[in-house]
Amino acid sequence: MIKNIAILGATGSIGTSALDVIAKHPDRFAIWGLTSHSRIDNCCAMIEKFQPKMVAVSAAMTGDVANFLASGFGSVTLLEGEQGINTIAAAEEVDIVIAGIAGAAGFASTLSAIRAGKKVLIANKEPLVMLGEMLRKLVADSGAQIIPIDSEHNAIFQCLPKAAQIDCMSGEIDADHGLLRHGVQGITLTASGGPFLNTPPERMSDITPDQAAAHPRWTMGRKISIDSATMMNKGLEMIEACALFGVSPQNVEVVIHPESIVHSFVEYLDGSILAQLASPDMRVPIAAALGDCERIDSGAERLDLVRVGQLNFQKPDDRKFPCLVLARQVAETGGAAPVVLNAANEVAVNAFCAGRLRFTDIPDLIHCALEDFSNLAVDDVESIIRLDQQVRDILQNRLDTSANSSQQTAAEC
Ligand code: NAD
Ligand code: MG
Repeated sequence: MIKNIAILGATGSIGTSALDVIAKHPDRFAIWGLTSHSRIDNCCAMIEKFQPKMVAVSAAMTGDVANFLASGFGSVTLLEGEQGINTIAAAEEVDIVIAGIAGAAGFASTLSAIRAGKKVLIANKEPLVMLGEMLRKLVADSGAQIIPIDSEHNAIFQCLPKAAQIDCMSGEIDADHGLLRHGVQGITLTASGGPFLNTPPERMSDITPDQAAAHPRWTMGRKISIDSATMMNKGLEMIEACALFGVSPQNVEVVIHPESIVHSFVEYLDGSILAQLASPDMRVPIAAALGDCERIDSGAERLDLVRVGQLNFQKPDDRKFPCLVLARQVAETGGAAPVVLNAANEVAVNAFCAGRLRFTDIPDLIHCALEDFSNLAVDDVESIIRLDQQVRDILQNRLDTSANSSQQTAAEC
């Protein structure tokens, strides 16, 4: 039977990779819904090619997309804004939701898909970081299935035995009855080290947004590219791994692997290590998740290990990548801390991209936010949303105030 797919964030890097895989398998998948927040031309081209039943776009795009639909795609229903995205994520006709919106902007729609009991292929890590342990309960209660397509988490997922995969997908796993039961001793996330792996620490403060966004291995959206440069991306992924796999932070290691060929590995009690290797191409994890139990063509270049020659691994330098240290502390603290970390990081990255913070101010701003807000409690989804907004508002206010003061740098507490 052909599966109906909704892609949230279809015009982004993940969305485009997902559409590419799906286009290779018209006998298995049909695009039922698409969402887009920008790039009108791309959005219209996708509508023309995939002929979805529903499309949700930002208010700024509605007029242009409506005109385009009037030119010959009258059967496509056009929705607007977050409400529209949530409707598509939860639509009865949709079998699989691919969550590819960037940042906390994908929180509501990811939640909608989970609450509607969908099979959710999730790249959008920020909602997972914000939900933390709550994620698994929401998934278990709704009967949803959650399959990671972030490359590292998908690699770990692929290296688990089937019974553990089923437990993880259905949220039926926790620190007490978790992966240890399946013989897993620990998981290791690999990191490329980003564009500044070999940059001397004293030159880090002069880095520009364009330099930070130029990832050496992966072509990705701007926010995740900057996060990779600070290594906050790996920090968020550590918290993401705890949420998805029910492991404690002590059982999650990070190693730098500059070639980005080994996408992560699982260590078992008997000393075996299982790893997943592939070219650095997001179509591989997307195809693995879409194929379910079957392997399907992803279109990715075949990996030639002889040509690669060497695979190197090294410990991350904590002094150079303080965001990774902050994220580990946050993973251990739990509670409100991941919500604060995520919101502060998004504010800091936006301010850096706008030229209002230096690269090295990013961890300072996050550190201050963690000191100010982490003792607050979050006990349900609504309190997460409130805290997220509160942190953003206060930090933005501080940035605006400090911009008017020559005494303070923008990232001072
Ligand atoms: P991107 O910037 O390329 O695309 C983001 C998509 O989200 C676009 O379609 C955009 O229109 C939409 N969007 C942005 N803001 C929105 C808003 N306020 N409301 C609704 N839609 C909005 O980002 P990306 O690189 O594709 O990353 C998407 C997510 O996947 C992120 O959470 C990222 O961490 C994760 N991820 C990406 C990759 C990758 O290779 N790109 C790998 C692993 C995980
Ligand atoms: Mg990743």
